[in-house]
Amino acid sequence: MKFSKPNYLKLLNSLKKKKYKFILAYNWKKYSKEKNYIILRHDIDFDTSYALEMAKLENKNKIKSTYFFLMRDDYYDLFSNKTYRDLKHIKKLGHEIGIHINPKSFKKFKNMSNAIDLSIKYFERFYGFKIRSISYHQPSVYNFTNIEFKALFSSYEKKIMNTYKYFSDSTMKFREKEFSECLASEKNIQLLIHPLWWIVNDSNIKGKLKILFKKKKLDLLKTFKKYDKIIKIKNNYK
Ligand SMILES: [Zn+2]
Repeated sequence: MKFSKPNYLKLLNSLKKKKYKFILAYNWKKYSKEKNYIILRHDIDFDTSYALEMAKLENKNKIKSTYFFLMRDDYYDLFSNKTYRDLKHIKKLGHEIGIHINPKSFKKFKNMSNAIDLSIKYFERFYGFKIRSISYHQPSVYNFTNIEFKALFSSYEKKIMNTYKYFSDSTMKFREKEFSECLASEKNIQLLIHPLWWIVNDSNIKGKLKILFKKKKLDLLKTFKKYDKIIKIKNNYK
């Protein structure tokens, strides 16, 4: 399957056709013993603009999902004006906001769980609402099971993995056949979708990443615009 906006809509429609109901992540327990429920989840790894675009697309199609924002990472600043705007907009569209945790970013702290806890508390005070769900970045790379953090939803918790069949589009691999078999069986699903893969218009990972990097460079260039004449680097950035 080609990863594109039209195909993402097709995927959502196939779920609707099978009468799947979309629930916010923190509500997982309530429906864990039922059938036909799906937790649609998005980890925002590089840029919040694509997430906002996906959130609008879902809202148009009356779908609710949970967006996980990275904390303490270098790709974007959770407290910048741009992220603040995008996050608040996504929330206003009716989606849930969760925190995406890259354990590597907390590695240097002696008490990792405490550092994560403090960061989330800071987030809650800054944004003025409670975080009920968390997800982990690159679970295959880092062992996160030793991190104790209390959340209503924690992406790879055993109980959740056992009651919601997990599918993801990580590294642009999607078990399509198994997914349609699962739809036919009406089992509950946790589906992880990365906005970047579906929103950016290119056919492969390399092309999509190239477009992302170009966008990041242009964003940065805009920030430095008033210094153009002084440093004269504009042309080197094209
Ligand atoms: Zn991630």
